[in-house]
Amino acid sequence: MTERTTADAPLADLGFDPDALREKYRSERDRRIRPEGLGQYVRAAGEFGYYAKDPYTPRTERQPLTDRVDVLVVGGGFGGLLTGARLREAGFESVRMMDEAGDFGGTWYWNRYPGIQCDVESYVYLPLLEETGYVPRWRYAPGEEIRQHAVRIAEQYGLYRDAVFHTRVTELTWDERSAEWQVRTDRGDAMRARYVVVSSGTLTQPKLPGIPGIEDFRGHTFHTSRWDYGYTGGSADGGMTGLADKRVAVVGTGATGLQAVPHLARDAAHLYVMQRTPSSVDVRDNRPTDPEWAASLRPGWQKERMENFLAILAGEEVERDLVQDGWTATARLQRMMITGAVDTSLDPAERERLDELADFATMNRIRARVDEVVDDPATAEALKPWYRYMCKRPGFSDTYLQAYNRPNVSLVDTADHGGITRMTANAVVVGEDEYAVDCVIFATGFEVGVSGVVSGTLPVYGRGGRTLLEAWGRGPRTLHGFYSHGFPNLFHLAALQNANSVNFVHILSEQADHIAAVLARAHETGAHHVEPAREAEQGWCDTIVETAVDNSAFLAECTPGYYNGEGTRRATPRSYSPGPVAFHRLLAEWRAGDMNDVLVGAGAATADTTADETSAEGRA
Ligand code: NAP
Repeated sequence: MTERTTADAPLADLGFDPDALREKYRSERDRRIRPEGLGQYVRAAGEFGYYAKDPYTPRTERQPLTDRVDVLVVGGGFGGLLTGARLREAGFESVRMMDEAGDFGGTWYWNRYPGIQCDVESYVYLPLLEETGYVPRWRYAPGEEIRQHAVRIAEQYGLYRDAVFHTRVTELTWDERSAEWQVRTDRGDAMRARYVVVSSGTLTQPKLPGIPGIEDFRGHTFHTSRWDYGYTGGSADGGMTGLADKRVAVVGTGATGLQAVPHLARDAAHLYVMQRTPSSVDVRDNRPTDPEWAASLRPGWQKERMENFLAILAGEEVERDLVQDGWTATARLQRMMITGAVDTSLDPAERERLDELADFATMNRIRARVDEVVDDPATAEALKPWYRYMCKRPGFSDTYLQAYNRPNVSLVDTADHGGITRMTANAVVVGEDEYAVDCVIFATGFEVGVSGVVSGTLPVYGRGGRTLLEAWGRGPRTLHGFYSHGFPNLFHLAALQNANSVNFVHILSEQADHIAAVLARAHETGAHHVEPAREAEQGWCDTIVETAVDNSAFLAECTPGYYNGEGTRRATPRSYSPGPVAFHRLLAEWRAGDMNDVLVGAGAATADTTADETSAEGRA
């Protein structure tokens, strides 16, 4: 399951020189470092706001709302939907879902580019399969099937009732007297909510490279997360007849570029793929769901499969690998970046040596695959990724590399120029070379996500008018990543002082279960509000620091990308390093207790009174 064979081999038998590879990785990284770091990008807002407009659903006018709900859920992606579903199961009737998009789906609402698919197996990625009685049609489901599943969940759990779309929260203010949040939005709403759950996603704000002259381009242009089928024709399945006579440039070869390129290659008159850093591209092996297998599934199958996948990726011992795909095969290589959990049975230096060898071997195999698939040796060379496996999101495709064998596809390597040099009215320029095109499509990704609550773009005024960012000071301060002292009845679903996984929907699912359980208990016990005690919050912050795994050395060696702040070597935000399996166990144990850490005002008081509190309530 893991790649221990190479790592355990004597150096002489490796078949490669680790020092030479390390040197090659460094020189390839240095070619790509840009001094501006994150400053090289511009937001798809303001003068570039056109790139972020919703092309899928017309905006309808409505009267501002001034009503009150028990729970407001900000975000209609899987995090919000799971929370809504679990709240309904717990008996909450007054739940309002809110999203800036025109419908449910989150990521899968916005991203509809051709070829879009989930890159984690759909049987573990799509949530609530048993609850909805649905089995995905493909092992890696297409985006439209996933989006429709989001709608299915919303319909089954009655989440369209009271929902508002094309609506952005602009301010949250805690009203101590009524123990409610006052909620203001960009639609003029001034509503109230007893509880607010923020699940607004992590990679949502499209970003564009700050290419000189980008605004001079007079051809057609859009971002992959706002695909313009009106221009290209066709659908996410392809058939983009509008491109038959068009010269198209696609900028970016990350997870999105990988999925869109094969379709663009098929449909455009000519496709220029503007690449700065190649992705690693391993075998995908997608296939339709076997109906016999689907019929054989027994109750509890999805939970078992999800937990098995999560455990393997977290480096836990399991008896069987139920998913058996590219993710589970490379679990060892993912630990430092995604789960944070590391093998403590070995001396750290020895562990790192073995991990690095396994990494070299995997990347050698991936590079060898490029030579096997791509006919032109120079193109193949330029498509080889020279960095460690988890420096970028690993890619999987059985059609991407093959696209470069088509006569109408040109790979343009921009690495030595730090990306595209400039744009003119009708061309993309790299160095001195000009590529005249009709259309430029930006597959250039997203700002790395924190919710507006966390970044401060959505002001939150808690008890005593204090903002969340003031209260946090130098970084997030939460209990278990969910809530903060001074901000009663406010919950976050996100990667925030908790544990992560490549199957992020599983993470969201556990978070939604937890929040619904806390709210249900608050309701049962008649708690006045939910708010972590200051000591409980401090205890969790200490735990995060004490268990932290320092991956800054790993990131510093990586080629630039959003994982390492574009080479600024910024460490990833601190999470619970023992990993998601341990974290979920910890949450389950905590839920089995009395929840006194957070339930305030039900029953006998164990007072948590501080000078800044006006609440007279004691803890349950
Ligand atoms: P991304 O991984 O951030 O990739 C952006 C691409 O744009 C990179 O190839 C980048 O090159 C390139 N780029 C940026 N500036 C450039 C410039 N000035 N000139 C030329 N190229 C430039 O974005 P993404 O592909 O949209 O993926 C983002 C994340 O979304 C993924 O990591 C994944 O988590 C998620 N995703 C998931 C799926 C799925 O199947 N579930 C699919 C798509 C995306 P450099 O690498 O050199 O910076």
